[in-house]
Amino acid sequence: PDCVPLFAEARGDIEVSFEFFPPKSEKMADTLWEAIKTLEPLGPRFVSVTYGAGGSTRERTHATVERILKETDLTPAAHLTCVGSSRDEVDAIARDYWDLGVRNIVALRGDPPETGTRFEAHPDGYRDAAELVAGLKKVAPFDLSVACYPECHPEAASSQADLDHLKRKVDAGADRAITQFFFSAECFFDFRDRVAASGLDVEIVPGILPVTNVAQARKFAAQCGASIPDWLDHAFEGLDERPAARQLVAATVAAELCGQLYAGGVRHFHFYTLNRAELAYAICHLLGVRAKAAA
Ligand code: FAD
Repeated sequence: PDCVPLFAEARGDIEVSFEFFPPKSEKMADTLWEAIKTLEPLGPRFVSVTYGAGGSTRERTHATVERILKETDLTPAAHLTCVGSSRDEVDAIARDYWDLGVRNIVALRGDPPETGTRFEAHPDGYRDAAELVAGLKKVAPFDLSVACYPECHPEAASSQADLDHLKRKVDAGADRAITQFFFSAECFFDFRDRVAASGLDVEIVPGILPVTNVAQARKFAAQCGASIPDWLDHAFEGLDERPAARQLVAATVAAELCGQLYAGGVRHFHFYTLNRAELAYAICHLLGVRAKAAA
């Protein structure tokens, strides 16, 4: 049926983007590079590189973004946060990126380096992502993505306050908002409807986390206010010793979610790859996204 694109021929109406994290070791760098090379032929709109909690990966993020820029035809998007840096320091990083040729930034407030502690702005720093967006737009006309939260950010006073804050980010110049991961298409649609009802005209891009390990996903979810539905637990029950089966289940679950989102009009999917290419590749393939040469 038309509403489910799975197994469809390549339609050419879907855009994808991929998120990677900067590697800590040479071995991890090899894995990352293999992942980037595997996903490059799918022609993503951009590939983003995260900025470790507390700004802990500043150099590694920069080096990864630079390598993508120099060695591939991809459009890199550098994540940048406000944590632990003054406005001048953040602006200088952004200026460096611009001079290097980077045009896309994912602008975030960020989380403190220690999980569970509250964000404290640097005394001369940007206090939230809205201020960061406004500051970056003064540095250069970057294409800016920001974060948004279908299930509400844990620090938000209410879901309305969360939306109001998203509006501040958009008013400051954000070009699109990428969601925190979620597992219910309905939850995404409710959020998108609330965004539209509040008069906000901004592209909401679902962030898709293909889950192969529910315990790990639960850990991520606890930090960011996302919920793990019971059915996801059930889907992985008894598969602890079966990594290959877990991969297949992960692809099926994520592709099903993407199919539902597609049926609801979504045409841009952002994948949290965790530097593993094969799952994202398989899900894209099921969505009809094909390597350019083979299209
Ligand atoms: P903000 O939007 O500034 O604030 C988060 C929430 O706090 C708001 O939604 C709002 O409810 C409330 N709030 C904040 N300021 C105000 C205010 N002034 N008035 C009212 N309410 C306010 N973290 C990293 O460290 N590195 C990364 O690379 C990274 N990448 C991410 C990518 C995506 C797509 C997503 C969804 C998250 C990412 N994160 C990353 C996590 C992010 O840093 C955390 O979720 C952080 O707690 C909030 O960042 P933010 O940009 O959403 O902040």
